[in-house]
Amino acid sequence: MEEKRIHNFNPGPAALPLPVLKEIQDSFLNFKGSGMSIIEISHRSPLFEEVLGDAIERTKRLLHLDDQYQVLFIQGGASLQFCMVPMNFIKVNESADYVNTGTWATKAIKEAQVLGKSVQVVASSEDRDYSYIPEDIQFNPDASYVHLTSNNTIKGTQWSKYPDTGGVPVIADMSSDFMSRPLDPSPFGMIYGGIQKNLGAAGVCLVILRKDMLDRIPEGLPAMLSYQTYASKNSLFNTPPCFAIYTVQLVLKWLEDTMGGLDRMSVINQRKAALIYEVLDSGDFYKGTVESGSRSLMNVTFRLPDRDLEKKFLDEAIKNDFTGLKGHRAVGGCRASIYNAVELSAVQALTDFMKTFAKKHG
Ligand SMILES: *Cc1c(COP(=O)(O)O)cnc(C)c1O
Repeated sequence: MEEKRIHNFNPGPAALPLPVLKEIQDSFLNFKGSGMSIIEISHRSPLFEEVLGDAIERTKRLLHLDDQYQVLFIQGGASLQFCMVPMNFIKVNESADYVNTGTWATKAIKEAQVLGKSVQVVASSEDRDYSYIPEDIQFNPDASYVHLTSNNTIKGTQWSKYPDTGGVPVIADMSSDFMSRPLDPSPFGMIYGGIQKNLGAAGVCLVILRKDMLDRIPEGLPAMLSYQTYASKNSLFNTPPCFAIYTVQLVLKWLEDTMGGLDRMSVINQRKAALIYEVLDSGDFYKGTVESGSRSLMNVTFRLPDRDLEKKFLDEAIKNDFTGLKGHRAVGGCRASIYNAVELSAVQALTDFMKTFAKKHG
């Protein structure tokens, strides 16, 4: 029997491609003829090694990464990276530059400070409630790295072009726009992202590390908190979250083989976002919360004329099979998260619903 599926605009965990979910279902009891489930086999078996290897190879192909880069899987979510990054890469008497573009960036800064590391917030958009991406930033030429958040899931802003840091390695939290568009890896010393937004089932962080970054890592870190451990053991120092990595492999296969890679995915993502922004800009009923030029193609944030209408909108949306449209609890309003797996047809259905609602209540 075909299960009923609704239009899923959740911010994370979020929609996954239907063919991926079906493949998981089909092979769940008997993975590749083994007579066992993917969650019952050894992480050191050839069957799992193939899953891990394929996920790594596809990541490298999709992002055009050469052998300077290593692909790692680390548990603890993006939130653990907030502490591992400064722990591994800010040496004694050094300082790192951070750009503060919202909640997640603020958390990353706090975690560095908790460790007693020196950080400089070289730019912030707090003055206008994080509604824009800062420009013309002066970076410190001897900073250990520059940390930025490529897409701000909660406030709905996104870097459309990464800043020139004058050769200082950029470390980017790409949790909510990883693999949503093509990437020039050259400025990045490291890229990381929790996979539960655009790449798979919750439980692991995808980390891309430029190998020269390994030279900075101090001796004496706890094994599980050192990138060296993951890099030298191909993410198999201890038992990895096998199922989560398997879902990443399937999503990457879908991205590469079915969707035709990141150039094509990015065109579709632009069309989806444009459809919603068009509705926001077409009258006074809906109001986008982000300054033009900084708008996210992944998380579209907006308000209605008042809170009662916002509540009514969200209630009616649910009755019409649209879920996940409530803004983050810290900011209120509405947000449509339109990650890779959210189909154009779902976005079209949403914009039709939005237009009808505006006509009725505007
Ligand atoms: C969701 C999110 C996080 C937190 O991810 P966890 O995997 O839950 O730790 C961090 N950064 C950004 C940009 C996010 O969207």
